[in-house]
Amino acid sequence: MSFYYYEKTWIELKDAIARDTLIVLPVGTTEEHGPHLPVEADTMIGEGFGQAVGRELEQRGAIPFLVMRTVPYGYSMGCVQDFPGTISVRPEIVQSYVFDIVDSLCRMGFTKIVILGCHGNHDGILRNVMRAIVDKYGIYIGVVSPISMSDYSKIKRDPDGDIHAGESETSLLMALQPHTVHPELFDAIDHIQLDRTLLGPVSTWGLQDTQMGSFGDPTYATREMGEQILASGAKAIADWCVRYYAFFKNKPVKTPKYKTL
Ligand SMILES: [Zn+2]
Repeated sequence: MSFYYYEKTWIELKDAIARDTLIVLPVGTTEEHGPHLPVEADTMIGEGFGQAVGRELEQRGAIPFLVMRTVPYGYSMGCVQDFPGTISVRPEIVQSYVFDIVDSLCRMGFTKIVILGCHGNHDGILRNVMRAIVDKYGIYIGVVSPISMSDYSKIKRDPDGDIHAGESETSLLMALQPHTVHPELFDAIDHIQLDRTLLGPVSTWGLQDTQMGSFGDPTYATREMGEQILASGAKAIADWCVRYYAFFKNKPVKTPKYKTL
């Protein structure tokens, strides 16, 4: 039986709510990803992880769950808007948009929701959604980053890793949608060479210019690495979902109460 939310009828979803089903919502974006990857790279990665997490959860059979379609548009900083292909929605709109999707789920009665954040510029935005949902419903949703949850940092061959369209993302696309990858255009021009002591507090995009629209070196990428990132990330996320579900299962949802003056 399919684990996709969008293939269900309202009668099936009513039953899913009654069984306290966990919802997985991948969030991607559409932006240039260097000369060698498609503009929907992050959305395809979100869709790929959604499916892989679904298969892992299905194998475990431990909790009821459904996977939603990946949100395909989001917010991208100006530096990637310099290249054709980038669709950028203002951050406050993305926050409201994702909030409304999760808000709809909560209103229906779902109380376990995990967002797969597959685009770096959304880190703060998605965590704000998480906090705003707690304030409205007392429901703690989860926000996880699939590549960070995977074994990539242990298996990477590029010592500098990947920020955008480099080793990890290119490997994932080679595993997920190989017909969209252009290996003849792989180059190391935008390999990472920034001052790491400034990284974190300052956006990576402020520490190094991009020439080709990448931020990393895709020449290290392989399909095998992509498969490993996908498999290890999906396993880690599925394990996390089972622990998250168990932790909140018997906790009553407490609607926040505000003191009135
Ligand atoms: Zn990306």
